[in-house]
Amino acid sequence: MQKNTTMINIQNYLNGELVNSLSGNWLDNCNPATGEIYSQLPDSDQNDVEKAVIAVKSAQNEWANLSNEKRGDWLLKLAQMIEDNLDTFALAETNDNGKPLWLSKNVDIPRAVSNFRFFATAIQHFASESHTMTGVGFNYTLRQPIGIVGCISPWNLPLYLFTWKIAPALAAGNCVIAKPSEITPYTAFLLSQMCVEIGFPPGVLNILHGLGSKIGSAIVSHPSISAISFTGGTSTGAQIAQTAAPIFKKLSLELGGKNPTVIFADCEYDTMLETVIRSSFTNQGEICLCGSRILIEKSLYERFKKDFVEKISQLKVGDPLELESKQGAIVSKQHFDKVLGYIELAKQEGGNILCGGFRVQLKGRCENGWFIQPTVIEGLTQNCRTNQEEIFGPVVTLMPFETEDEALSLANHSPYGLASTIWTTNLQKAHHVASQIETGIVWVNCWLIRDLRTPFGGMKASGLGREGGWEALRFFTEPKNICIKY
Ligand code: NDP
Repeated sequence: MQKNTTMINIQNYLNGELVNSLSGNWLDNCNPATGEIYSQLPDSDQNDVEKAVIAVKSAQNEWANLSNEKRGDWLLKLAQMIEDNLDTFALAETNDNGKPLWLSKNVDIPRAVSNFRFFATAIQHFASESHTMTGVGFNYTLRQPIGIVGCISPWNLPLYLFTWKIAPALAAGNCVIAKPSEITPYTAFLLSQMCVEIGFPPGVLNILHGLGSKIGSAIVSHPSISAISFTGGTSTGAQIAQTAAPIFKKLSLELGGKNPTVIFADCEYDTMLETVIRSSFTNQGEICLCGSRILIEKSLYERFKKDFVEKISQLKVGDPLELESKQGAIVSKQHFDKVLGYIELAKQEGGNILCGGFRVQLKGRCENGWFIQPTVIEGLTQNCRTNQEEIFGPVVTLMPFETEDEALSLANHSPYGLASTIWTTNLQKAHHVASQIETGIVWVNCWLIRDLRTPFGGMKASGLGREGGWEALRFFTEPKNICIKY
């Protein structure tokens, strides 16, 4: 596609400069709340990756040899720039993704700031191991930068997840070639403008825009890029693993989920109800950590169903720029069709739609936007596709259980294993279920409380490896054991 001169043009950030792709081709970028194409991004390809690799090679040694304090200072400068421009970043995120502006302002952008601050300081405290062999000698482990790493992120929490990868990669002394989602490229572009403004060392961070199938796979297959940190869908993760494994690339894969929310009758009811509304539908259900299978102890089922459905029916779906909108737009037409397709499938599978289940047609500015009423479904078996496949939208199912064992069996009956939430005031039960549930992250009587030092990631089809804290810094370094004889 040719350049449209009336539109905002997103550019690649390569060797410290904002540039167009070498091919000169462009892709359209939509605002999902209005359905309007409002910007264009470079349709980058393998040649742009080659150019970025050349830029990195001349920047690599200097960055790796900079002290941790100096590297940390650069990251702190970026954090400050984002914080100083919070309103601009938040509006850009909302226009790109469709999420409510209050959410971008209070969660997405502040978290991007925290990601940079956290890893800028974490690297100052990062230490490696030493193993003494009495009377023989000792070993110490050097943890050195890997070199060039590729960071590929999805559209649901665009800047939040983009910075969650590039911050530890840079802090550990690597140079980065990063690709944000083609569907939500705008805040990564704003970040690159900030890099230019503060004179971030050229070649250290490179941001290339474009299609996953083109620029994404060119990053994954490039022999000079030694590690890939990827967040996205499970099938894309499998494709990446297939390319990366024979060339022995280090891989971190944060993939899809189908998270269970397990509610026992002895829970603290009001807190549970208020939190489960958020854990089901925040960001239109487009958070990999949202609970989409709600399992409720039978004695509480009817009460919960009545209260939950009543409250969900009142969630206002509206213009993301309006403060009272609790639910914004679905990120793209393609995803909107996919979510509606799953609602139809649920009906065919015998599901009973308790609320929602349809497109919301707004008036005025958002009349062509892609909005779906939050949807609650019951009456489905655990084996059906609706309960087994990731929908990644404002759709949850309700299922009753009678015993702790049955709750665990339902919760674990999934190819995925990312996150779970358990609601009970019985401490013993909480510990037992938490230890038996097959997910990498378990919240007890809460949801989405995040300490950035903790291991983050999933089991089974939800991924490989963990992010966060030392896990991320270990991933982005190569351990080398050195043995010294006394
Ligand atoms: P995708 O897998 O479609 O895409 C993720 C990123 O990978 C995008 O930048 C995409 O580019 C790129 N990509 C696509 N194909 C390739 C390829 N062959 N090689 C390299 N890169 C490629 O996921 P979505 O963007 O649709 O994100 C939603 C998914 O992400 C959901 O499954 C969700 O559960 C998961 N997710 C997981 C999280 C976790 O921590 N476990 C957190 C957040 C989301 P393009 O946009 O051009 O397609």
